[in-house]
Amino acid sequence: MPRRTAATLATSGEVLRLIRTGEAVTRADLGRVTGLSRPAVQLRVGELLERGLVVERADAPSTGGRPPVRLEFNASGGVVLVAALGASRTRVAVCDLAGRELEGRDFAIDVEQGPDVVLPLVMDTWDELLGDRPRSLLRGVGMGVPATVEFAQGRTESARVMASWTGVVIPPLVHERFPVPVLIDNDVNLLAIGEHRGAYPELGDLMFVKVSTRIGAGVIAGGEILRGALGAAGEIGHIPVRDGGGVLCRCGNTDCVDSVASGTALLRDLRAAGKDVKTIADVTRLVRAGDAETMAIVREAGRQIGEVLAVAVNILNPSVVVLGGDVAEAFGPLVSSIREVVYRRSTALATRRLRIEPSRLGAGAGISGCAVMILDHVLSPDAVDESMITRLKISS
Ligand SMILES: [Zn+2]
Repeated sequence: MPRRTAATLATSGEVLRLIRTGEAVTRADLGRVTGLSRPAVQLRVGELLERGLVVERADAPSTGGRPPVRLEFNASGGVVLVAALGASRTRVAVCDLAGRELEGRDFAIDVEQGPDVVLPLVMDTWDELLGDRPRSLLRGVGMGVPATVEFAQGRTESARVMASWTGVVIPPLVHERFPVPVLIDNDVNLLAIGEHRGAYPELGDLMFVKVSTRIGAGVIAGGEILRGALGAAGEIGHIPVRDGGGVLCRCGNTDCVDSVASGTALLRDLRAAGKDVKTIADVTRLVRAGDAETMAIVREAGRQIGEVLAVAVNILNPSVVVLGGDVAEAFGPLVSSIREVVYRRSTALATRRLRIEPSRLGAGAGISGCAVMILDHVLSPDAVDESMITRLKISS
């Protein structure tokens, strides 16, 4: 970052960023890093202290002289509301400003019941979880949904996945009750964000692949989630495989990897082969028992997912591909055939340092991804400065 000059004086939001990242932890540090005068540093720190975003800590006295007062980001200075909506299960939580979950609850609900049923339930649960906390602590809302989202609008897109939600613009519905910034993204992007920040913060390029009822991916490129022009980046589920056998996909095309290798496809193929399988857990049982026919079908699905991932690896050159979702977590043979094909079919340079790893955070990555998304937004220098101006207008 270029050193700031008098023409681009560091704002309060920028000062908060420096304190939050630990780049500057005393008033003297802030003066040095920003080039601001002492009174200017004092003014900005005063604003942040007053808003509860920063606290002062006196260090233990050192030998000689008064110890400098340390400035720390105050994670207890506010809360964000988060919700990870799944096809059949939803987790709702209240997190502090460091993204730590303070209260949380899981419930089973069919997301296809639609926004009129699901959203009020989610919002009532937030209210209950907030309890006695003053609503003035509330800084933002982050939500993940199992559908493609036109990110800037918070509009759900994919008609065949969450049919009853198609075209619904979610943020205003939430904002009516919780008047703070509201961001919505698709569930796999949020898993990628959560896994990246929680397990691989040092890496810039990561691809999270969820193999579950459906197949999808979230891409972190250069440290940021890659959303594409409207928010559809990473939708690898509807890339066709070469030899799928003409299976019609719910998107209307044929031989999408989702239609030939997802958990849903595995169950269908195993039933067609005469196996008594109702759930993924039944398939897991057969895999563990080493049933030859099941293993062959699972390996073939892994190969087809691997073919698609090899293309994605060639385009994106990630440092790590994280495999998550209940199918990837349960099936060793699937993961090993994915690995084999990706290493064989991607270019040498793209795979020289490529790691293919199981998810470290599991399903918990979804909630932490929601928290990271909204916190990065509401604690960004621009958003902090904006809210300072709003407060001044209100109080004057
Ligand atoms: Zn498709």
